[in-house]
Amino acid sequence: MANRKIFLLPGDGIGPAIMAEVEKLINWMNENLSTGFETDSGLVGGSAYDAHGVAISDEDMEKAVASDAVLFGAVGGPKWDDVAYEARPEAGLLRLRKDMELFANLRPAICYPALANSSSLRKEVVDGLDILIVRELTGGVYFGEPKEIIDLGNGQQRAIDTQVYDTYEIERISGVAFEMARTRSNRVTSMEKRNVMKPGVLWNQVVTKYHKENYPDVELDHMLADAGGMQLVRWPKQFDVIVTDNLFGDMLSDVAAMLTGSLGMLPSASLGAPDPITKKRKALYEPVHGSAPDIAGQGIANPIAMIASFAMCMRYSFEMTEEADNLEKAIANVLDTGKRTGDIMSEGCTQITTEEMGAAIIAEMAALSA
Ligand code: NAD
Repeated sequence: MANRKIFLLPGDGIGPAIMAEVEKLINWMNENLSTGFETDSGLVGGSAYDAHGVAISDEDMEKAVASDAVLFGAVGGPKWDDVAYEARPEAGLLRLRKDMELFANLRPAICYPALANSSSLRKEVVDGLDILIVRELTGGVYFGEPKEIIDLGNGQQRAIDTQVYDTYEIERISGVAFEMARTRSNRVTSMEKRNVMKPGVLWNQVVTKYHKENYPDVELDHMLADAGGMQLVRWPKQFDVIVTDNLFGDMLSDVAAMLTGSLGMLPSASLGAPDPITKKRKALYEPVHGSAPDIAGQGIANPIAMIASFAMCMRYSFEMTEEADNLEKAIANVLDTGKRTGDIMSEGCTQITTEEMGAAIIAEMAALSA
């Protein structure tokens, strides 16, 4: 079996500590399940700036592009607040997204039964929740031109952003959503603002046509993005896969994320187009949270979002469905035993460290894989 090449970019703050737990898991899987993962690691963010004066070196960028998948920790921290804009820690992540052409951002919102009480919504609204938001990541109003603030010469200024989408961008992101739906409950809800925005009109037309021609087996419905936001907090379990643009996806995925409790629990994936020959997509997997400088170095960070990002990596980059299912089940089982890191601690549970959480998940993986 060809080796599975994973490039690790731990980053800053709690990044290295949570990545260390994934490395232990990878080593355990290689030794016990012959998974053939081959890892290499590099620097990104502030740590890359300290070493090379840039947020990611060309050499590490090449390794990222050449790998089957990138696992990314988190970047940033007060130490680098005054660094030049082009070299700021986040520039490393933006370059990875751009050079790897990662246009599809996948954000699952899963509510583990053991944590259903930690949501700000009623338990019955979120218990067992499992939805996936597919957000377009490289187009729309964040990148459209013109993008400027102009002086009107009469004491007034005018700020302009441009919401722009071409047919191919809408087709390829909806294609990802339909494919994901086929591996889940086979339903997609497309969200836009066709009532007030031209890109919303085109989005709706293109998704409808693309669905009819390519994915008629998948159930599709449409919802205005504002109504979608409302429905996400009213009854989120009505959704399976939601596909939406960059701006609405940014907001709706944060809303969906918070349905489930802590930031320390949330994984994500960013995918590119399939290679015409190998059919493999470029991919980067990362927790949703940042580098948490307030708790860095204390051994108390929650590694679950990072470990669940690795589960997504096995599912989407390596088609290791059984292993990914087992890893997600291992996380749920550990939570069921009442073990918690500080961020998800609640009464009657046992507080454990980053390393203890990593070890507990590996032990559970071992039990499930036996
Ligand atoms: P953050 O996500 O780092 O932290 C927000 C709060 O959540 C903090 O109190 C933190 O302790 C807690 N938290 C986050 N992850 C946790 C975990 N795994 N376990 C336990 N607690 C956790 O967001 P922030 O404080 O706004 O930003 C801190 C730094 O991270 C900034 O420099 C920011 O620019 C950067 N950031 C990076 C990314 C990224 O790398 N993708 C994303 C967001 C923020």
